[in-house]
Amino acid sequence: MSWSQIQQSEDVHEQMAMLVGSAIRLFGGEAGAFVLANEAFDPRSSAEAEITPYRLSDVALALFLEQAEAAIGSTGAAGSHAQQPLAIEWLTPEVAAHLGYEQTPGALQRCSLAVYDAAGTLGMLSFVRPADARSRFEQHEGPTDALSLFIAQLAASMRLALKAQALTKEQGRLAAIFHSSTEGILTVDTALRIIDFNPAMEHFTGWRESEVLGRFYFDVLRPKDRHGNELGLEASPILQAFAGQQVTQREMMISARDGQRFLVLVTASCVRSARGEPMNGILNVRDVTRERQQEEQRSTFISVISHELQTPIAIIKGYASTLTRPDASFDSKTLHPRLTAMEEEADRLNKLVGNLLYASRIQAGGLQMDVTSLDLGPVIHGMVRRFRVKNPEASFALKLSPDLPTVMADRERIEEVLQNLIENALKYSPHQRCVEIACNATSTEVIVSVSDSGMGISLREQEHIFERFHRVGEPLAQATPGAGLGLYICRAIVEAHGGRIWVESTLRQGSTFSFSLPREEQAQLPMVVF
Ligand code: ADP
Repeated sequence: MSWSQIQQSEDVHEQMAMLVGSAIRLFGGEAGAFVLANEAFDPRSSAEAEITPYRLSDVALALFLEQAEAAIGSTGAAGSHAQQPLAIEWLTPEVAAHLGYEQTPGALQRCSLAVYDAAGTLGMLSFVRPADARSRFEQHEGPTDALSLFIAQLAASMRLALKAQALTKEQGRLAAIFHSSTEGILTVDTALRIIDFNPAMEHFTGWRESEVLGRFYFDVLRPKDRHGNELGLEASPILQAFAGQQVTQREMMISARDGQRFLVLVTASCVRSARGEPMNGILNVRDVTRERQQEEQRSTFISVISHELQTPIAIIKGYASTLTRPDASFDSKTLHPRLTAMEEEADRLNKLVGNLLYASRIQAGGLQMDVTSLDLGPVIHGMVRRFRVKNPEASFALKLSPDLPTVMADRERIEEVLQNLIENALKYSPHQRCVEIACNATSTEVIVSVSDSGMGISLREQEHIFERFHRVGEPLAQATPGAGLGLYICRAIVEAHGGRIWVESTLRQGSTFSFSLPREEQAQLPMVVF
């Protein structure tokens, strides 16, 4: 039975009640309780095991407990029970009334039977019975063989019932750990067939437990080494654990149902029989894909940023050293392009630092916006005018629908988005620098598109270019300066306006980046938090 199928078995809890009830009836009793001795009480087993009532109301039970405790306290060690295990006394009319019986003096007895075995006292069975009731264990005065035998059997059955309760409870605790663990856990039999598959495992792999039970675990996880080579059965962590090897935090890739791969650390262990033979294998799986991605991102960040900072600094430093040479004098024709280059590089530095601050503010969770009703036509015209002045060799085509509806937006931030997209269109089009900017409206939003005929972006890369510090791996793209922050910032700004941003691109033919903003009447603003 798999852990997910475990239900707390009622039988286990009823077993004690049945034993107590049968024992009391065997003695001719009508109601009573069994009280577990302190030394036999195991806090890890069910709390109900401490007292097991039989046909007693709560009030009557409390009375019984008081008397039974006194009786257990006075009976002493297990050995002394053997002399007189069954104590009988008359029930006073008051106590009888409490228990719901008629107050006829001498009609009722309260009996206390010590339940013990060689291991010690298990508890006291206390019950009420009519004065004339007798059991077949009480034919003679003093303990009979039959009574001793009965007590021994009752004690053995009770110990078993208590053990079963403790086991059920322990199983429940383990099942809770298994289900709530954020680490994947699977267990297999000796033939490496899955017998348990916890919810975290279901979450990683996309397989439901019911679909993988009984399947060979290698077929389900399809493990590979970190270079993507299939792992043979000899590398099975569970087989190695069966063979007595230590398998802790071993790195491997596992495949989800949809083929997606995860980098995981696995720890394998083995449950052995009393004779030391392997019975079950347990695999603990920790997904470290995200951690590793973050590590890679951090090192990419450091290399990209240091490169992007060093390049303009080196250029500025080079020109500044030349221009400050005491032995040289420069005319304005020589000076001007060098000073312009220095200014451009200083701008580049300024922009990079600005983008870094921007990105960290987005990460910190907030971006304050100054939102007003905005007509995008003039914004686009103004932006293109500036680009034309700075890039006289590039061509810009504008295709704006007439009567564009207004949007609710922060003008400065939308200008930043446009500027980033147009700069990219120019940067990543080394040969044909013609950019088309279009703006159209649908019934709910206004869509701005920036198209180029540049190097384009592969489908695989398109999924990632809006991520922080992501730069396309192509050599040509790598050779172009950039820190992989522009599109990340664009997406954050557009989404903060309740819009979307996306790309359509064909490698070596060109790209179209589009973003949408809700029409003014549709906008749900202010939206300041990402
Ligand atoms: P970067 O500062 O590197 O340009 P971006 O976030 O603006 O950062 O862009 C991320 C990556 O997306 C770029 O490094 C580039 O590889 C790719 N990219 C962006 N725009 C274009 C485009 N118009 N054509 C081709 N590739 C592009």
